[in-house]
Amino acid sequence: MKILSVNAGSSSLKFTLFEMPEEKVIVSGTFEKIGLDSSIYTIKYNGEKIKKECILNTHKDAVNVLMKELINMNIIASYDEIEGIGHRVVQGADKYSKSVLIDEGVCKDIVEFTSLAPIHNPANLTGIESFKEVLSNVKQVAVFDTAFHQTMKESEYLYPLPIEWAKKYGVRKYGFHGSSHRYISEYMRDYLKSDSKIISCHIGNGASICAIENGKCKDTSMGFTPLAGLMMGTRCGDVDVSIVPYLCEKLDITATELVDKFNKESGLHAVTGVSSDLRDVESEYLKGNQRCILGLDMYSKKIVNYISMYNTLLDGADCIVFTAGVGENSPIVRALVCDKLKAIGVEIDKNLNEETFGRFGEISTNNSKIRVFVVPTDEEVMIARDTFELVGE
Ligand code: ADP
Repeated sequence: MKILSVNAGSSSLKFTLFEMPEEKVIVSGTFEKIGLDSSIYTIKYNGEKIKKECILNTHKDAVNVLMKELINMNIIASYDEIEGIGHRVVQGADKYSKSVLIDEGVCKDIVEFTSLAPIHNPANLTGIESFKEVLSNVKQVAVFDTAFHQTMKESEYLYPLPIEWAKKYGVRKYGFHGSSHRYISEYMRDYLKSDSKIISCHIGNGASICAIENGKCKDTSMGFTPLAGLMMGTRCGDVDVSIVPYLCEKLDITATELVDKFNKESGLHAVTGVSSDLRDVESEYLKGNQRCILGLDMYSKKIVNYISMYNTLLDGADCIVFTAGVGENSPIVRALVCDKLKAIGVEIDKNLNEETFGRFGEISTNNSKIRVFVVPTDEEVMIARDTFELVGE
């Protein structure tokens, strides 16, 4: 059965077509700059990558081009061969603790939760509607970023604010990157052949850490929005909220404008003054750039803080897993983090750490009290798995 996994952004649409249940990737690609003067799309198929420019006014145009390309490339003979489409939806609030088949009610909820995810939910819905217009008979599934974190207890998800604000306004911790943390949890369960206590560190441009026990999220570092928690590429993570009115006055800007700066002009990018891309920061760090040394010190300490906290919450973790762009590919960040975790008995093997990137590997020594792994995440396959399960029912 062919299942399409989709991640629609405000001007982009990423897709992966899977053969299920084999989980074989048939073709994948990205449409970018949708709605702008000139759009680009790339398609990866059979080890080759094609890149084309065209004009795509809407996401529906992108879906039409995608379907025509699939036919032209002889990947499918007719549109009916696609039997299910799974969409990443960022915010499912406290209503969705798992993926669901999309109907009108689900679409209405995605709209309703827009106030909680003003950039992402409308874009995700545009993706759903565009596919519905082009492939009207195909079942679609919503896979929520927040769903995995719905197992957090009140004591973890509530903020110490008037309790009615959580009920009336939905002000609470939701957590994000749920599909990635769930992938890690399932991967480790298969690998270790048992459930365990995992600290899953999804460190990419956006970054979050999740404490997982027996396949369930106990706590996570992102909060009401993906701005909370760790220091990230361009996001500041946790800061004292009293900074907001103070800086709004000093900079003569609104709170919304300031939060936009917290999202887009802070984090590694701001502290290093070099880049939000860790590769650039690392190359300057290795040359002794003081701001990059400071930036990576802060960046790794925030990760250490959350790992230490979650080790206590889990009453002793069995393993720490590094994943996503940085977690999978940066021995430097992993070493900076793990070297600060000696107090809780973490010890990594320098050589194993340095030779593990972009692939699975265990990087801790036999003496380490907590095993440390690198696991490439796969959010697309999680979307395909849920879609296959729900469409097949
Ligand atoms: P997101 O999905 O949040 O955009 P990714 O998980 O794709 O982020 O991670 C992107 C980040 O991963 C890049 O900003 C870069 O800093 C980092 N990264 C990717 N490859 C490497 C590498 N080889 N070495 C160090 N960092 C890397």
